Amino acid sequence: MSARTRASSTTEADYPTTERSRVRRLHQRGSYARSDLHAILDAAPLCHVGYIIDGAPYVTPTLHWRDGERVYWHGSAASRFLRQVDGKTVCLTCSLMDGYVLARSAFNHSANYRSAMVFGTARIVESDNEKTEALRRFTDGLFPGRWETLRPMTAQELKATSVLWMDVEEATAKVRAAPPGDPEDAGIRVWAGVLPMRLAFVSPPRARARAAG
Ligand SMILES: Cc1cc2nc3c(=O)[nH]c(=O)nc-3n(C[C@H](O)[C@H](O)[C@H](O)COP(=O)(O)OP(=O)(O)OC[C@H]3O[C@@H](n4cnc5c(N)ncnc54)[C@H](O)[C@@H]3O)c2cc1C
Repeated sequence: MSARTRASSTTEADYPTTERSRVRRLHQRGSYARSDLHAILDAAPLCHVGYIIDGAPYVTPTLHWRDGERVYWHGSAASRFLRQVDGKTVCLTCSLMDGYVLARSAFNHSANYRSAMVFGTARIVESDNEKTEALRRFTDGLFPGRWETLRPMTAQELKATSVLWMDVEEATAKVRAAPPGDPEDAGIRVWAGVLPMRLAFVSPPRARARAAG
């Protein structure tokens, strides 16, 4: 992924740069490219949705999925978060840690990461057909072909599930992918470099036990 700043040369492949979304701090790490944003949203296993209810801020972690410029999340129909966020401006973020960056001074320690910040308005999926279809895409997106193998959802289960969506109105990606930024301290005799980190699936417990036995 490229970490491009397009503040002065926006194309159709980019999100608009606004007062809200312009990356100011270390702007060279920012990107408004749709492809960069999509790649982070698709790679992140979960997101955090930030919103205000009665003047108080909340940030709720939840699973998400993307369909073009639309980002979805779901949960219990009884969830206060899902009921109250409908129609509200939200900020959805995803972040992926790629490593700790150990420098030769505490000040220059850092992290390598890919993160996304998306702004838009949350909406609830009203129709049962659309809700079922969204949930099918969510399930099959994670586990291709699984939906067809499952017992169909009952009307009660569908009623108990809310699905929300937001269209991406403005968005930024921010990426750090670099060694420590302290060339001036290169002569100091302490280890410095990147400790890479990645999210990985491991074998389910029964498979692990079989392998051990
Ligand atoms: C895993 C991880 C660890 C981090 N650790 C630190 C840390 O320890 N200390 C620290 O100072 N910063 C850290 N950051 C960076 C942090 O997220 C902010 O980018 C930074 O603090 C600048 O914030 P700001 O409000 O001044 O940014 P501004 O540049 O003022 O923000 C303006 C706009 O830029 C965009 N933007 C800003 N940050 C991000 C982002 N991370 N991802 C996508 N879009 C963004 C948003 O649209 C925002 O509205 C970390 C990021 C990640 C993903």
